[in-house]
Amino acid sequence: ETIGENLRGTARRCGDRDALVACEQGLRWTYAELDAAVDRLASGLLALGVAKGDRVGLWSPNRWEWVLVQYATARIGAVLVNVNPAYRTHELSYALRQSGTSVLFAARAFKSSDYAAMVAQVRDGLSELREVVLFDDDPAWERLVATPADDAALAERAATLSFDDPIDIQYTSGTTGAPKGATLSHHNLLNNGFFVGELIDYTEQDRVCIPVPFYHCFGMVMGNLAATSHGACMVIPAAGFDPAATLRAVAQERCTSLYGVPTMFIAMLADPTFAEHDLSSLRTGIMAGSPCPIEVMKQVIDRMHMGEVSICYGMTETSPVSTQTRTDDPLELRVGSVGRVGPHVEVKVVDPETGLVVERGQTGELCTRGYSVMLGYWGEPEKTSEAIDAAGWMHTGDLATMDDGGYLAIVGRIKDMVIRGGENVYPREVEELLYLHEDVIDVQVVGVPDEKYGEELCAWVRLREGASLEADDVRAFCRERVAHFKVPRHVLFVEEFPMTVTGKVQKYKMRETTIEQLG
Ligand code: ATP
Ligand code: MG
Repeated sequence: ETIGENLRGTARRCGDRDALVACEQGLRWTYAELDAAVDRLASGLLALGVAKGDRVGLWSPNRWEWVLVQYATARIGAVLVNVNPAYRTHELSYALRQSGTSVLFAARAFKSSDYAAMVAQVRDGLSELREVVLFDDDPAWERLVATPADDAALAERAATLSFDDPIDIQYTSGTTGAPKGATLSHHNLLNNGFFVGELIDYTEQDRVCIPVPFYHCFGMVMGNLAATSHGACMVIPAAGFDPAATLRAVAQERCTSLYGVPTMFIAMLADPTFAEHDLSSLRTGIMAGSPCPIEVMKQVIDRMHMGEVSICYGMTETSPVSTQTRTDDPLELRVGSVGRVGPHVEVKVVDPETGLVVERGQTGELCTRGYSVMLGYWGEPEKTSEAIDAAGWMHTGDLATMDDGGYLAIVGRIKDMVIRGGENVYPREVEELLYLHEDVIDVQVVGVPDEKYGEELCAWVRLREGASLEADDVRAFCRERVAHFKVPRHVLFVEEFPMTVTGKVQKYKMRETTIEQLG
């Protein structure tokens, strides 16, 4: 089944149920309305001459138009190129050129990003880009979405599509450096979204609040495709992430499920308006994307009514989810692990040096294999074969352990591991410890070069308002509780961390800044 056919099926089954609510924009569509709008835009794209496999770019924060373009391109077998909303001209022209994008959809502007002006600047240098359509005040967009559905042309195109066709060029978050364009198929994405929804028991009764960017697989697969393949409703609180707007959307739309990367949940829990919102409709949700602190998980369960909240682990290259916690897992594993492997996926933990599977409980590199592994990095066969080995295993670059029950815990990224005086230190362990300190709202630990020990730990700490903690207090707190080589030598108090659009802390940037600051 292709994504287009799947949506059609949901519209047949639950046509009069809510499909999409965009709170800020004031739009509300049933499945019948969404499906019909997708047919119109898809017909408009066919009339524009968009062929199967043509690349169609999308550059915008979260709004209903995003969802429409996602499903319309899928319905005609075009390849959606998701362009990071934080990009500027240099990165934009690189992504459009590298992918050979011929049609680009973009928001006119958002916050400090004047997308229209940036597109105008780079357009002349892009020979393959023949059409730019803006979502706001653009007759071209109005015309496209008002195209009468051409059922015959749509059916003719649908007959040429296969679920193994590439459908998305999805860039990775850029947490560890330049993003890579993972090429994903209907089969990859639709199944992943479906299984994620299956494991948190989605039905057409569910209403899913999605404040994470659609630009990323978390939003467009675990959010949109999980919802539409189960007939659940997608709720978009606002264009960018805003903790109060998200909580308000949950309350007003009676959402049953709420998503976020850990930093978003931290922001919602600490929001001054938190107590004003009735969150009693929530039952479940997903925390994913980076290490999920146990303390934050516990608070989400206790204070946000999300008793069935699930942790997912995965990466863009695997559509994204590989492992997931389930409702019936024991509580300590639901907050302290990333669950077990998902349906039709295999995982193994190997010694990165020898490639041999390590014993249960030992740390090694996590590898995954199955339907969810990407087709490859767009136009970069060497990088693809570095990541996926001849036997089809995706090497994740993450360190993990697996217990006897098959539950996995993510220890950290190989690139983030610190070697201090010959001892391996996983920053995550020190972070988990410092989350227990009552004055600490958020904390990130990195390794920085040190003449004597090779590397030393540096903790970046965000304090609760009014707290007055000194570096010595932080060190003393750690010294009492963990081995001396895990005590951060450097402590910096900060207001924020360098972050990707997907809400992940960019430790390589923290490292650079720390090195500069320490001179
Ligand atoms: P880039 O590859 O561009 O450096 P990225 O790896 O952050 O960025 P994504 O594909 O968005 O890009 O993220 C996948 C990574 O996120 C995983 O490899 C893992 O390190 C981390 N991750 C995802 N979910 C979890 C989780 N539940 N716990 C810990 N880490 C997670
Ligand atoms: Mg990655």
